[in-house]
Amino acid sequence: MEAKSQLQVHNSLSGQKEKFESIHQEFVGLYVCGPTVYSNVHLGNCRTFVSFDLIYRYLMHLGYKVRYVRNITDVGHLESDEGEGEDKISKKARLEQLEPMEIVQQYTLDFHQVMDRLNALPPSIEPTATGHIIEQIEMIRSILDKGLAYESNGSVYFDVLKYNETHPYGELSGRKIEDLIAGTRELDGQDEKRNPLDFAIWKNASKEHIMKWPSPWGIGFPGWHLECSAMSTKYLGETFDIHGGGMDLKFPHHECEIAQGTAALGVSPARYWLHTNMLTLNGKKMSKSLGNSLLPEELFSGNNELLDKAYGPMVVRFFMMQAHYRSTLDFSSEALGAAEKGFQKLMDAVRKLDQLQVVKESSFDVEAQIESYYAAMNDDFNAPILIANLFESVRYINLIADGKEKINAADLERWKTELKSFIFNVLGLQIESESGNDQFGQVMDLVLEMRQEARSTKNWALSDLIRDRLQEAGIQVKDGKDGASWS
Ligand code: AMP
Ligand code: ZN
Repeated sequence: MEAKSQLQVHNSLSGQKEKFESIHQEFVGLYVCGPTVYSNVHLGNCRTFVSFDLIYRYLMHLGYKVRYVRNITDVGHLESDEGEGEDKISKKARLEQLEPMEIVQQYTLDFHQVMDRLNALPPSIEPTATGHIIEQIEMIRSILDKGLAYESNGSVYFDVLKYNETHPYGELSGRKIEDLIAGTRELDGQDEKRNPLDFAIWKNASKEHIMKWPSPWGIGFPGWHLECSAMSTKYLGETFDIHGGGMDLKFPHHECEIAQGTAALGVSPARYWLHTNMLTLNGKKMSKSLGNSLLPEELFSGNNELLDKAYGPMVVRFFMMQAHYRSTLDFSSEALGAAEKGFQKLMDAVRKLDQLQVVKESSFDVEAQIESYYAAMNDDFNAPILIANLFESVRYINLIADGKEKINAADLERWKTELKSFIFNVLGLQIESESGNDQFGQVMDLVLEMRQEARSTKNWALSDLIRDRLQEAGIQVKDGKDGASWS
């Protein structure tokens, strides 16, 4: 397909848009750093995962087979990203007097439920860090073998300066080693390190530490950065296509992943690094530690003082799609309200599309409309431009309905397929029923749509049968000016 060869992606490594070319013939490898499951995912986290869901969906729409790996971090992520403090999961388990795996289970479940409501597709593989201790130990061994790490007091540290002699450390985040050295502070475990910049790939566990495993260096646990290197290598190969995450992961997490992969295997792990920008609240990054985070559930229920009412998951998803993934997106109740209007307008147009009358010749260039959808998404997954182009199509749908433009049957069929595919498969939107986004409401929407289809082909027997059978089931259908509704 021609559109496939036009895809450009912004690579954080080069700081530029580059033509996308897959390394393997068989599949595109996509790795996204998943959540650390010690608390509920907030709306900011969701933005990153929904952005990668869009990327995953569009790659598949282009015809690629994608192996999408998104991990669950269930050990090793310490309180600070620089590797200080207590393990986030252990700490929560200690405070709540639960098993660490109870914490992991609870928040993994929450994460899955939220992703499901936002209609984000599950990844192909969702590996956990605790399930890959052996692979991590293997990787540490090979880094040690290359002389790029050293053991100290039961911990193993990556030797950043030694690595930097042959490979530039800091290339992804644009940091210079001299500046990094100048900026280092006195940190925990400093006495064990040769240089403050060195980071732990294995940490010696104290007696009280609860999540720990035996290793050649003693009882301990893996460093946070290492899990992604081990799991991406295992499932996608030494070098794969796309590695993603929020831009706050660029340093140190992803920088360290590049160093670990290069040190252990001699090749840089990913060809393209994609980073999403932050969801903000009053201009400040939404984050749990800043105490300004909103939970998706609060939006769906309207249960938060920042909200004037409840918003359905599809409105929230549409709101996220209205900003490019590399731009910040500021949350406000007004912005959600505007997204709701836009979303309804788009859904109304989809309904109208199914009722358009055809003529012999189209009066406008339908192909140009379709091409504009591909052009937007091929330009580094530009969803807001795609939405603007879809609204241009909405204008045409209304003009046809008003008899001011015309369309022939073949054009309409092709347009319907592509337009619906971009709205439902690529943007991942779903028709949200009056009663919310529950499955029953969706099924009812479908039944009413089928009844409408029967009416439009004057199949009165079928449309009456549907109405009567629904009535028997206790559901009243009312036909109104704007279509049917049920109660
Ligand atoms: P964490 O569980 O903290 O490792 O975060 C999971 C993902 O959410 C990471 O890719 C983060 O970069 C991302 N993330 C965290 N806060 C935000 C935010 N305010 N906006 C967008 N993404 C975020
Ligand atoms: Zn990661």
